[in-house]
Amino acid sequence: MHSNGKVYLVGSGPGDPELMTVAALRLIGEADVIVYDQLPGPAILASLPDCAERIDVGKYAGDHTLSQEEINRLLIEYAAQGKTVVRLKGGDPYLFGRGGEEAIELRKAGIPFEVVPGITSAIAVPAYAGIPVTHRDHASILTVITGHEQKKGESMVDWEWLAQSKGTIVVLMGVTTLGEYIPKLMRHGMGESTPVAIIERGTREDQVVTTGTLNTIVGIAGEHGVKAPAIVVIGDVVRLREELSDYIDIADQNSADDS
Ligand code: SAH
Repeated sequence: MHSNGKVYLVGSGPGDPELMTVAALRLIGEADVIVYDQLPGPAILASLPDCAERIDVGKYAGDHTLSQEEINRLLIEYAAQGKTVVRLKGGDPYLFGRGGEEAIELRKAGIPFEVVPGITSAIAVPAYAGIPVTHRDHASILTVITGHEQKKGESMVDWEWLAQSKGTIVVLMGVTTLGEYIPKLMRHGMGESTPVAIIERGTREDQVVTTGTLNTIVGIAGEHGVKAPAIVVIGDVVRLREELSDYIDIADQNSADDS
């Protein structure tokens, strides 16, 4: 029934088109249908070929135009018609992108699929802002967390452990809940002078970096009207930005430094 149809769960990287993989570019060129949301960003979305059918599922920061179930159904239906479907997802498909959920639904429906990893925003976005997420002198642990856990049930994050971990914390989807988890980290013993950077629209032309400390960042982010998509980086590695960000053009031009 679904002969020849296949779904590729493809990571687009964080937004700079040059950070797309060779496999992503090839598959986008070969696709009959490309199913995407806004996370890959304007430059990548503008480059999608118009010979493929393009479907914007518009799932963006709570403003869902299609539910996850509807997206799953769409992928299954197109593949069942024998089409080559690219499900283009920002960053890496399996890091907080619901790629795992989509893969499981495809498997359940008996649809062949492949995952094509992408460069994740969790690491590349700090890099473009001059922040290496680890450094032998500053952090031997990197924790990537979501600022938006599913509401039901207890948190899967051990905040006490995290606050004491002495590593780098990268928070995805962490803008609207900043005022909740930042005080929580301080309550659990993380120093209030720990540096924090928020990078909006990282790796894109309009990237903006805002910096502060655990103590100041909630206020500063409010003043600057920081918006998603943004990466929050917490830890001593943020200081390396002073030395390293000069070498990165886009970070240089658009910084809104307050530290
Ligand atoms: N799978 C993606 C993450 C999906 S969750 C990845 O690997 O990058 C969506 C979150 O990713 C956003 O809320 C934001 O925190 C982060 N994000 C993705 N692209 C970004 C970018 N270019 N700049 C800043 N944050 C980004």
